[in-house]
Amino acid sequence: MSNSTKYVFVTGGVTSSLGKGIISASLAKLLQARGYTTTIQKLDPYINIDPGTLNPYEHGECYVTDDGAETDLDLGHYERFLNVPTSQANNVTTGRIYQSVIEKERRGDYLGKTVQVIPHITDEIKERIQAVAKNGQFDIVITEIGGTVGDIESLPYVEAVRQMLWEYENDCIVVHLTLVPYLSAAGELKTKPTQHSVKQLLELGVQPDVLCCRTEHELDLGLRKKIAKFCNVSVNAVIEARDAASIYDVPVLMQAEELDTVVLEKLGLSKKQSPKLDNWKAFLERLKNPKHTVKIGLIGKYVELKDAYKSISEAFIHAGVSNETKVELSWIHSETLDPENIATELSGLDGILVAPGFGSRGIDGKIEAVRFARENNIPFLGICLGMQIAVIEFARNVLGLSDAHSTEMSENTNAPVISMMEEQKRISNMGGTMRLGAYKCELKPNSNTAKAYQNNNISERHRHRYEFNNQYLSDFEAKGMVAAGRNPETGLVEVVEIPTHPWFVGVQFHPEYKSTVDAPHPLFVAFVKAALKNKKH
Ligand code: GLN
Repeated sequence: MSNSTKYVFVTGGVTSSLGKGIISASLAKLLQARGYTTTIQKLDPYINIDPGTLNPYEHGECYVTDDGAETDLDLGHYERFLNVPTSQANNVTTGRIYQSVIEKERRGDYLGKTVQVIPHITDEIKERIQAVAKNGQFDIVITEIGGTVGDIESLPYVEAVRQMLWEYENDCIVVHLTLVPYLSAAGELKTKPTQHSVKQLLELGVQPDVLCCRTEHELDLGLRKKIAKFCNVSVNAVIEARDAASIYDVPVLMQAEELDTVVLEKLGLSKKQSPKLDNWKAFLERLKNPKHTVKIGLIGKYVELKDAYKSISEAFIHAGVSNETKVELSWIHSETLDPENIATELSGLDGILVAPGFGSRGIDGKIEAVRFARENNIPFLGICLGMQIAVIEFARNVLGLSDAHSTEMSENTNAPVISMMEEQKRISNMGGTMRLGAYKCELKPNSNTAKAYQNNNISERHRHRYEFNNQYLSDFEAKGMVAAGRNPETGLVEVVEIPTHPWFVGVQFHPEYKSTVDAPHPLFVAFVKAALKNKKH
């Protein structure tokens, strides 16, 4: 272990969904703003190797890193808050831990020993926690333990934390996020669930250093003292984490509660400068005082679960702020759309986005949505499957290839305008085998995309198996849909545009993954701008 790196473990108690990811990202933001290099890691207790094979209904969006890891959506929050890329090492699952221990066992690395949860699984966990520090590249590593303390699944992680606290006692602390519920019948906030959840941690040998208490009401001094006394923490380490209007308020609220100061004290680090949050606060100011509004339709098949499109909705918040515009998202289920209702369902939208996705469900509605945007000159952004749908729609309704399709949905179509990439055809495993991670793309000068990026050479993240079929490219270009971006090595079409349309862009990659508070994504910024212009007409 590098002696220069300090570790903050974030655990959760009482219930799930308290927002450990946002608290971790907010703390990291404050430490970063004080001048400490900080990274955040998420340990997920489930047995899948990664969330790549999980249905979005199970787990929300699958977030993809530059190095092609399919990860938990919390990593998206980490990047959006810190503006520093994460990697495979930032997300570890029980499946991955066991896979690696079992591989070592098969290789004979354990020299005839009985392989056990302690020490082999816990050692593997500790190695993964320390690996993310990259030999002192980061001053502080914040490791978020998924799940709730007391879950059977998270026991080995809490045990690994206990061991690290023991082995490196001056370099590690635990921040426990808990709930202080309000009982309306009693008219009171109740501390007992927090006391119990700390007791549960203590039974596992872990004394938390800081308690972040999620609450709907003010945590007064009396309550703070009570929690401190029953849970063996100092009063200034009882932090009120009130419900916030926006996740982007949380760093500022945590600064007011001095979470960063307490953490630095407990880690034995100096406070350096007080956090520079000028950009962040300017962002919040603009977020809360928009000058314009636009309405954008998000057409997808998982719209009941907004977490399935987390990075897209956050990218719209960033792009809205940079246009001083409130982006109202209208979540539209593609299965409900048909040629009869499309004009009513999509009326009043200033822009239309067709979302990424897999499989046949809801495809016809998406095709109708693209047609509506194309024929009515409504700014359009298609992402991944959304771009493929734009290609299929154009093939059917402009090129006259009536059964044009993607071979994903229709293997035997006569016009496979979207087809499987050659290297994908040989792969039979589903997990981790798509075209994943960052690839370069060369943009056509003066295309809407190049104008948005103000650059002809970009790199964006991918997650797909199917591609534009280049056999049809000249037919498309002859009729007015052009390849505005291509992979410089393989010639794969990564961006399509219709130059005669005000703003019609389909991208094979996922721009949403790279949008942050400090760097709103140029394509989303340009799309919102086009929607604003459309609204004014
Ligand atoms: N299902 C499509 C493919 O695999 C698109 C994937 C996506 O939208 N992420 O190519």
